[in-house]
Amino acid sequence: MKNLREITKEELEAIRVVTFDIDGVIIPTGTELRENADGTELYMKSKQLSRRFIENLKELKTHLKLNFSSGRNILYLKSLVNEIFDEDIFLQAENGNISWFGGDIVHPDYSADYFKKLKLIRECIKGMMAQGDMRIRGFEPKMFILTPHSDQIEEIPDIVQEADPEGELYCLWTNEGYDIGSKIMNKGKGIERLAEYLGISPKEILTTGNNYNDREMLRVGKGVTVDPERAEAEYFIEHKQNELGGELLAEFLLERYKKNF
Ligand SMILES: [Mg+2]
Repeated sequence: MKNLREITKEELEAIRVVTFDIDGVIIPTGTELRENADGTELYMKSKQLSRRFIENLKELKTHLKLNFSSGRNILYLKSLVNEIFDEDIFLQAENGNISWFGGDIVHPDYSADYFKKLKLIRECIKGMMAQGDMRIRGFEPKMFILTPHSDQIEEIPDIVQEADPEGELYCLWTNEGYDIGSKIMNKGKGIERLAEYLGISPKEILTTGNNYNDREMLRVGKGVTVDPERAEAEYFIEHKQNELGGELLAEFLLERYKKNF
């Protein structure tokens, strides 16, 4: 892996889109979620983009198109970037499953069996909650993947394995719970779809990430990891504990554009 500072003028000139991962990259991690056992009450608290980052995005938009790819749901992504939203902003939610391209929302077709499997897993986890298991806090509202918020516990990957002997599903630790979804889709395939939509190569899309669900997108695009130990990429960006790698990337790119690379 190379330090991003080593990226060449030619490489930067070829970039058409920058894709920001959200949690731990442009927003501090730590979403609070609590749902009651019968699912009739849901409390969720997340963070906002910093003012300075929003202003940097406005400037960055004059050079590049912007894409935001996250495990989170599409409504959250839309509200996060509402201030700068226009036809040059793309959103990819639920680990590549839902893409918002030019006013259209696209997603893969899933069979009823897939949703049945997710429902079975959800019911098993809800059963643990109903028995008072405080390690599980509830489910984040999503369409195509299942996201229980919990401590890192053996039981959840075990439940997934039992419900899915065919091995069609992934179950990835997210630092605040698990993302459970179909292996036919991931953030990397989302990047391929965006490249196809724009008629460019995936390598013309700079991608960022920090976690297990970012690995494919870092590989498919021109990857810049903010956590080299957990997710590998061609480049890494250095940051201190209290800094966000995605915010530093925006500043780095703006500086290079200002100096004409
Ligand atoms: Mg991430």
